[in-house]
Amino acid sequence: MSLGDLGEFGLIRRIADKVAAAPGVALGIGDDCAALLPTPGRQLLTTSDMLVEGVHFDLAWSDPFTLGRKTLAVNLSDVAAMGGVPRWFLLSLALPSELSLPFLDDFTRGILSMAEEFGVALVGGDTCASRQGFVVSVTLMGEQLPERVVTRGGARAGDLVCVSGFPGDSALGLAKLRRGERGEGTLRHLDPLPRVSAGLALAEAGIPTAMIDISDGIAADLGHILERSGISGARIDAALLPFSPLFKDEAPRYGDPLALALSGGEDYELLFTLPPAKKELLPPLAERLALPLTVIGEIDAGAGVRVATPEGEYRPTSAGYDHFSGC
Ligand code: ADP
Ligand code: MG
Repeated sequence: MSLGDLGEFGLIRRIADKVAAAPGVALGIGDDCAALLPTPGRQLLTTSDMLVEGVHFDLAWSDPFTLGRKTLAVNLSDVAAMGGVPRWFLLSLALPSELSLPFLDDFTRGILSMAEEFGVALVGGDTCASRQGFVVSVTLMGEQLPERVVTRGGARAGDLVCVSGFPGDSALGLAKLRRGERGEGTLRHLDPLPRVSAGLALAEAGIPTAMIDISDGIAADLGHILERSGISGARIDAALLPFSPLFKDEAPRYGDPLALALSGGEDYELLFTLPPAKKELLPPLAERLALPLTVIGEIDAGAGVRVATPEGEYRPTSAGYDHFSGC
């Protein structure tokens, strides 16, 4: 059977049949709107991300199941970065007529597997035809008490800069895929794990003054925090960057490790600032989360994001590094 045989409503039913009843959903897929029951007193956090074939993903690299997972993961990561609890999502699909039914089934299984892992429910969406390429957009809603929501805008001079996990692994995975390699290391790029419990735990402990998830790379995303916080600069100490054993072993063969870690992006780790007095709260939390939380620098009075190395200070750019002079 093809997509055409099934038709728009058959397709929607095929997705809806795989969706179970969920908490907070008065009315799910099937009506003109979903009717949701937000927790009283919580703010509703909403985020949307679109992935376009040929722009954000390459079907030669990713199987549809894994692509489904990543589609939801990138949205979960945004809610994680606000310290929120993800709850419900909408799924909008533009499908080229040549797309196969097994592809769509695997994609749906992938996205619903990620949804189940993180306790979020599919409550609706939109389905249409595409003249060229597969396009998918997810809108995710989450919740949090107003006083616990963490924005990009609260960093202050003297705050420390901290990162979760091992930045650079995703960029290394992408570099491997670009060379036609598969296997070890590429999954960190294709199937990232959003740091939802870490974002929530950090927010509940009142640790971050500002937080963002790393989609563009540490350098660019720290720049977003500076801009939203209205502060001038931050210095990253290259020697403090935490690298995974695989990254240490292999990154030098794929590029400048510092450039991969700072400008590569798509790590979907959390990058946050915190007052120095709260630094001691990090190790026990990292242990509880089984996730490294590493201080890599601080907010200072310099201009923009700079990286301190034994050879001097550099200003990272998306193209790599320009020697930073006059700092
Ligand atoms: P309308 O024309 O009123 O927008 P649709 O026919 O597009 O309604 O959708 C019918 C129902 O199916 C709605 O509840 C909508 O949210 C849901 N829906 C449509 N596409 C999807 C999808 N890809 N995934 C989940 N639900 C969907
Ligand atoms: Mg519609």
